[in-house]
Amino acid sequence: VVAIGDAVSVVIAIVAGLFLARRALIPIQVSWEKQQQFIADASHELRTPLTAILVNLERLFRYPDHTIEQESEKIMIGMQETRRLSKLVADLLTLARSDSNELQIMKQKLRLDELVQKCTQVFAQMAIVKEINLETEIEQPLEIVGDEERLHQLLVILLDNALKYTNEGGKIFVSCKREGQRVTVMIKDTGIGIPKDDIPYLFDRFFRVDKMRSRQTEGTGLGLSIAKWIVDAHHGKIQVSSEEGVGTSFYLSLPIK
Ligand code: ADP
Repeated sequence: VVAIGDAVSVVIAIVAGLFLARRALIPIQVSWEKQQQFIADASHELRTPLTAILVNLERLFRYPDHTIEQESEKIMIGMQETRRLSKLVADLLTLARSDSNELQIMKQKLRLDELVQKCTQVFAQMAIVKEINLETEIEQPLEIVGDEERLHQLLVILLDNALKYTNEGGKIFVSCKREGQRVTVMIKDTGIGIPKDDIPYLFDRFFRVDKMRSRQTEGTGLGLSIAKWIVDAHHGKIQVSSEEGVGTSFYLSLPIK
């Protein structure tokens, strides 16, 4: 059943992938070379989990009399790679739609302090499991004009990274405050950090620091490029400072109006 479920997910992912490739050809603002690179990178990234799923499904079929317990590792890998694939397809669709200006940013009044609070509460639960101490300092009320869904996505990307790249026993600190006509959000972790030479490429599509290191953590290398798109669409700024083995801080600055 799991195998069939996986196979169905793979088919859905392929269809979505093809849809993406078609969409990626439409963008008006992105150069032809960039589109070609995007499709090449996307195909490469889609192929890796697909191959892993296929190999494991084939192995399952080779031993039809084996029990689920005996084959649990292959099933686990299949499920893990399917999750990776569906995240990848969702991220690729977001970027393809943003390139073709299909994704509109809603401009509405919202309480950023409440949004940050809501997001960090969810991550605080996950942090407990990983024995990470998550603290917040949130000024309130902080009202800005923006797109709640997209800003939520932005916070999730940064908090998810902070949690992913911080080892057990580490700390994450989130602050949110008003500075003149802007609101600043800082997400600081005591995680593995980022090598200095890699910092300029962090917001590039598919960039992951040291593929071997990143492969152990789930990810697509697209999160920060989506984060940058969301910040730009809000006329904001995103900056990073990091030291290997010490930690990383992301700073967001968003205009109030
Ligand atoms: P991914 O899906 O790989 O996390 P992102 O675009 O979100 O992709 O991040 C790109 C890369 O930047 C990651 O693969 C990771 O190497 C590095 N990175 C991002 N955030 C952090 C962080 N808080 N600490 C250490 N490394 C980070």
